Amino acid sequence: MNKEHFLDEDKTKLDLNGNLDTIIKVAIEQTAVSIVITDVYGNIQYVNPAFENTTGYTFEEVKGKNPRILKSGLTPDEVFEELWETITSERPWEGELINKRKDESIYYEEARISPIIDTDGKITNFLGIKQDITTRKYLEEKLKQTSIRDPLTNIYNRGYVFERLYQNIELYKRERSNFSLAILDLDHFKKINDTYGHQVGDFVLKEFAEMLACKIRAYDTMGRYGGEEFVILFHNSDRVTALKTLERIAENLNDYSFKYGKEDINITFSCGIADAMELADDELSVGSIIELADKRLYEAKEMGRNNIVID
Ligand code: GH3
Ligand code: MG
Ligand code: MG
Repeated sequence: MNKEHFLDEDKTKLDLNGNLDTIIKVAIEQTAVSIVITDVYGNIQYVNPAFENTTGYTFEEVKGKNPRILKSGLTPDEVFEELWETITSERPWEGELINKRKDESIYYEEARISPIIDTDGKITNFLGIKQDITTRKYLEEKLKQTSIRDPLTNIYNRGYVFERLYQNIELYKRERSNFSLAILDLDHFKKINDTYGHQVGDFVLKEFAEMLACKIRAYDTMGRYGGEEFVILFHNSDRVTALKTLERIAENLNDYSFKYGKEDINITFSCGIADAMELADDELSVGSIIELADKRLYEAKEMGRNNIVID
């Protein structure tokens, strides 16, 4: 802790004596919330120990500097524009900033920045009161991820894919950007479990999901539909184009064995594909397009498995 702060430990004992100003100063030094005071040009005049702890900079290091030394480049420019516009028009600004510590690590903070106005109505200083919310942000993101991801394979879950499907349908009805939906079901998967055990079955599901994810475009959406069923939403794509991708995946799979210990495990899948243009607008819904793809999946199974049906 630096010596430029209002009080050192010994002085605290001497000066307190019920003096409210002094106690307020102690509170500023003791709080876990970062406090920054700049002049009207934005040059730092004071930071409290919480600021030093959060950012890794000492008061000495930031004195006279602009708080932009904390800029990470991750806060959108519009946020800073709005911040400046608000405080220079003499109103306090509240919002979130993504900043960078001295050691370059990123942190999130909730900030309130207020102009300090003197009796002549002139801004003399700016006061920033900021709270590190990195842990909360991290937990929120984790929660969001667990609610949209399948825990076994870590790919999207069915709920998320349905939501994206709904959005695609709405977009298609407005902009006519066709999309296709493929439903895959692994063939005779019960046999994998029965032969090698459920744990090996899980391993194969995970490996297969990873393989699928590598073979589709980054902007397509893939998820686990159910047990050993997967679903892929091909954006801006008709079912013939989707078929080509899936045929390539099936060929790769025919030449590939999943290795678990000494075991070489081969799998195939059956698949049904439908696209939005096949259904009239008043028939097109999440349910109807899934039903169509599912019906074709069933036909692919009937044909003897390891097949893809699009008509
Ligand atoms: P087919 O699809 O070719 O008709 O045969 P199948 O044996 O794959 O039959 P079906 O699709 O009806 O059954 C799915 C089986 O997948 C049932 C279950 O043993 C297995 N399965 C479902 N979810 C999981 C899972 O999370 N882990 C493991 N290991 N197995 C699962
Ligand atoms: Mg199944
Ligand atoms: Mg199956």
